[in-house]
Amino acid sequence: MRIGVPKEIKVHEYRVGLTPASVAELVAHGHELFVETKAGTGIDCPDSAYEKAGAKILPDAKSVFDATDMIVKVKEPQPQEIALLRPNQILFTYLHLAADKEQALGLMKSKAICIAYETVTARNGTLPLLKPMSEVAGRMSVQVGAHYLEKEQGGRGVLLGGVPGVAPAKVAILGGGVSGVNAAQMATGMRADVTIYDINNDRLAELDMFFSSQIKTAYASRAAIANAVKEAELVIGAVLVPGAAAPKLVTREMLKTMKRGSVLVDIAIDQGGCFETSHATTHADPVYEVDGIIHYCVANMPGAVARTSAFALNNATLPFALKIANLGVEKALESDEHLLNGLNVSDGKIRHQAVAEALDLEY
Ligand code: NAD
Repeated sequence: MRIGVPKEIKVHEYRVGLTPASVAELVAHGHELFVETKAGTGIDCPDSAYEKAGAKILPDAKSVFDATDMIVKVKEPQPQEIALLRPNQILFTYLHLAADKEQALGLMKSKAICIAYETVTARNGTLPLLKPMSEVAGRMSVQVGAHYLEKEQGGRGVLLGGVPGVAPAKVAILGGGVSGVNAAQMATGMRADVTIYDINNDRLAELDMFFSSQIKTAYASRAAIANAVKEAELVIGAVLVPGAAAPKLVTREMLKTMKRGSVLVDIAIDQGGCFETSHATTHADPVYEVDGIIHYCVANMPGAVARTSAFALNNATLPFALKIANLGVEKALESDEHLLNGLNVSDGKIRHQAVAEALDLEY
């Protein structure tokens, strides 16, 4: 198959659909790879690395789209990219169509076969192509939390791990899923005093086994959260109710009970946030203060560590890209119900029930 990788064009998007290592893997399976010049420079993967991996470098996005049967990207296609798609060309990338009717209509019009990373499933019902980004955000949340707890950043002036003779900071993690666990791994690594709150008792039991005495677990009742917020120096919001807005677990009233200079990191901000006082921020201006409490609510945290994120994303997407390329898209979709769940648009129609319902379009 002829496979293309255009340079991402969304502002501050440095990730790339295929790294040179992924390109080499596809080339080894007999495929032809075409990469837009400078596609990987943002993560220090120069054209020469792609050439060494066996790709041909093309001067612009149009040449890449024209030369190939499948486009592998990171972010949803922008209008000028949608205009380059042709019928039955495969587009494999994040789409997030449920909240973007204009893009959905554009993709339907293109008659391309659009497979969205975010709806590909795994055997245990999880979303394997979203997981790496939750891992990144979870691990980063502790790093940014520690940073903003520093006095110079307006924080309380507290070291997460304490020192001999001075107690460590208390970290409350709301939600013990993928991002919550990754946050806990970093926080325990820094020797903070960590408690994870969740409403899934089975999950709490698993976490208790996994972390043993390194963390405490608690059922996420209102009372428990109110108490956690009062005591913690760092609160990480990592809850998810699939398909719904994040529940507001920390109210403005609770904020008033917190210690001045404490930090809230709301990972769940992409679902509206789980603190009443959260609003989305950007990497250019990541924090703001309410009642003396620092809020970090960046909606695309992985963008800050684009190199790690691009490699993590490629690890998850490459097996699916290989399957599509090796079998051809029809056979690949027929033989893999999890990849089939990723199919969002083909033949000018929406192919994913939840997406169709969200957009009020025919399925
Ligand atoms: P997950 O499904 O793995 O875990 C969510 C956990 O929240 C589950 O264990 C669930 O039981 C728990 N939960 C649900 N309701 C709760 C409640 N009321 N109280 C306590 N716990 C509750 O989800 P995840 O992959 O860790 O993702 C968490 C959030 O982070 C999602 O909104 C995701 O989109 C977001 N995310 C944000 C970024 C970013 O850059 N900001 C990056 C990646 C993911």
